[in-house]
Amino acid sequence: MKFGRLGPSGGVVLEERPPPVAGPGELTVELAACGVCGTDLEKLRGNYRTAGILGHEPVGRVASVGDGVAGLRAGQRVFVHHHVPCLACDVCRRGDTTFCPTYGRTNLDPGGFAETFRASAEHVRQGAVLALADPVDWGTGALLEPAACGLTALRKVGLPEGASVLVLGLGPVGLLYARLVRTLGASWVGGTELSERRRTAAERGGIDVTVDPRDGAALHEAVRAATGGQGVDLAVAASGHPSVVRAAVDEVRRGGTVNLFGLPEPGSRLDTELQQLYLRGVRLVPSYATTEREIRDVHALVVEGRLRVGDLVSHRVPLPEIAEAFRLAASPSEALKVVVTGPAFDR
Ligand SMILES: [Zn+2]
Ligand SMILES: [Zn+2]
Repeated sequence: MKFGRLGPSGGVVLEERPPPVAGPGELTVELAACGVCGTDLEKLRGNYRTAGILGHEPVGRVASVGDGVAGLRAGQRVFVHHHVPCLACDVCRRGDTTFCPTYGRTNLDPGGFAETFRASAEHVRQGAVLALADPVDWGTGALLEPAACGLTALRKVGLPEGASVLVLGLGPVGLLYARLVRTLGASWVGGTELSERRRTAAERGGIDVTVDPRDGAALHEAVRAATGGQGVDLAVAASGHPSVVRAAVDEVRRGGTVNLFGLPEPGSRLDTELQQLYLRGVRLVPSYATTEREIRDVHALVVEGRLRVGDLVSHRVPLPEIAEAFRLAASPSEALKVVVTGPAFDR
């Protein structure tokens, strides 16, 4: 079978290997679709050092179940979460499940960009396999994980009733986050984005105001006008670039929260006046990844019709053309969300 992985000298390469086999307690899944995430792109650029496994937003049909797997059967449509927390260690008990050592160690074999991938017995046992409800099409299913990252972040920061929220960076995860805060009761949602195409998509998708971040004065004016000069309750840095985090700190109100949501490059530094941060009582809260619990909650929001995500898929690219999928995903003027499709996509 074919699968995509990080090449030895960067870039994504397509390789052949025998399909994985489901051992006791395990499951294999035939791929329907898997989104290309910003973190996959950062792995290719060498900015995010991990085991080199790509693809963590996969949906597909169960191909085979190992001995002892209950409640799941071949042919079933599923989403599989890539990492699973143990829910028993000190880190998990404190609620920081995405920092659990088991979470860091577990992954799909050989990743989400594979004709067939294997979920371990830990994945199955800990509830990382979610049966998709009928109305959830493959594209929507592939967006559950990035949307759930927003929900995990919101549970960390807390969203005040009727909050004003500024999302800085309206790529796919920023757009999903913006829609989520709207669903969960934000009164005003603004956004910044370099790409005109993405700004237009955001305004069509219900964001109140979008601004080109290169126009700092326009951004400040839009936030002042929307918040009576106070600044927003929550500013979400959906890009980890220092200039974006700085703008988030500048536009948040006294006692407000900046959510460090996008992945910063290694070695990047935040240059901000600490006394201002202190006197204004700005909280800086990072949020990394998500778990199967938020996946289930986002799935429920989608099924209830409270959250729309599937329309953000702009391109569906078959697995053999994975290099083109990555090229598109790195081009904000051409693409919103790019999903790689597998053999189960048409079934
Ligand atoms: Zn992701
Ligand atoms: Zn744990």
